[in-house]
Amino acid sequence: MRRWLSLAVILPLVAGCLAAKRVGGDGRREEFPERPVAGQPVLLRVGLGEGLPKQRFACTGPWQLRSGARDRTLLDLAAGDTVSATVFAGKLKFASDLEGGLLDWLVLAPRDPGDLLLWNDRTWRGELHVIRTPRDSTRVTVVNVVELESYLAGVVPGEIGRALPPDARAAVEAQAIVARTYVIGRLEAQRARGFDVFADTRDQVYGGAAGEDPLAAAAIAATGGLVVYRGDELADTFFHSTCGGHTADCAEVWPVAPDPLLRGVEDRRPDGVAWCGESRYAVWEQTWSWSDLERVLAASLPAYLDELAQHPGSAWQTDGFAPAYAGADPRRPGSLRRLEIDARTREGRVAALGITTEAGRYRVRGDETRRVLRPAATGAAILRSAWFDLETDEGRRVIARGRGWGHGLGLCQVGAIARARAGQTARAILAHYYPGSRLAPLDGAALP
Ligand SMILES: [Zn+2]
Repeated sequence: MRRWLSLAVILPLVAGCLAAKRVGGDGRREEFPERPVAGQPVLLRVGLGEGLPKQRFACTGPWQLRSGARDRTLLDLAAGDTVSATVFAGKLKFASDLEGGLLDWLVLAPRDPGDLLLWNDRTWRGELHVIRTPRDSTRVTVVNVVELESYLAGVVPGEIGRALPPDARAAVEAQAIVARTYVIGRLEAQRARGFDVFADTRDQVYGGAAGEDPLAAAAIAATGGLVVYRGDELADTFFHSTCGGHTADCAEVWPVAPDPLLRGVEDRRPDGVAWCGESRYAVWEQTWSWSDLERVLAASLPAYLDELAQHPGSAWQTDGFAPAYAGADPRRPGSLRRLEIDARTREGRVAALGITTEAGRYRVRGDETRRVLRPAATGAAILRSAWFDLETDEGRRVIARGRGWGHGLGLCQVGAIARARAGQTARAILAHYYPGSRLAPLDGAALP
């Protein structure tokens, strides 16, 4: 049976929490945790879940329940004890076998940092903070407040692969530096939600302690604190699986200005074979029946025009659609007449795809060709790459034969692994894929 704190105890606790609400620099009341950065080490707030109903927590060792707003320990718990948290009357309600109460910001922390918290069938390093979801204050948000390097340990294996051979370590080091640079650039990005980054593909996929891998842990330790700079600013460190033999220019991929750091570079060995040639996505084939492709285009072409509308003034907008007759509705493409490649980039990616339908002619550019030519059979949201040839059997079927996987910007992961195995260092790998970049320890002054 739960024994609740008496009302006499709860009320001062609640009043104390209210009084402890901090007022931000802009005068707004803070109802969620500040990201606690004080020089090194950097602590991150990772949003594990939002808008959740009642949640349960446990720990592998002795642990504590604290009020975040007052930084006061409310309960000492033993391994095996559980705590639940939900929203009640506009407050966070916590309950353990010992007692319960109401507060604004709940902090769960192991006594020994080597112990792990348990939530959602996974183990987590650092602390778990529970707050009310800012956009739905009847539900809770769970945030993992974790040291940057521990966060990377739960991210890097998922990004570059687990159980890689030991001689691939320099590639894992490069990925660790890229992941560190990315997340530092995203600090405060989800501030209104009460954290810095999402734990899924909206940022980097983070699996907590269960996602760790020994090679990645060694690579993270060996590159501790290193990030990629462009001049004095953090670089945009895009990466992808397999470039196909040459990486892409950002202005060919998206309607953005060219960037020297994200310009396409050759990715071939001296013998001409692509460094990423051993990728299972080095070459691929995708087939659509004519009617399947018409069904795909009925949705993907209007979505492409919506995407173009997000980039007013872009060169891509000028020829997005040419109507076949006065009053033709670009949002209703109708039957497919012809599919052809209008232009290619210097290395051979599709720069512009011409799609003629009953309604008119669409011109689809850059990486958007991958979303417009979505595979119908597999349900994948995107074609493997924009580097392909087309074979059309009019009225019957269309076949795309391509190479590579991903947008092609920045670091090629399979190429980086092959380069590492051939003896290249992480520094050399990053210098190749991000031309003009500089590797340096994170400067605390760069933090928000
Ligand atoms: Zn490559």
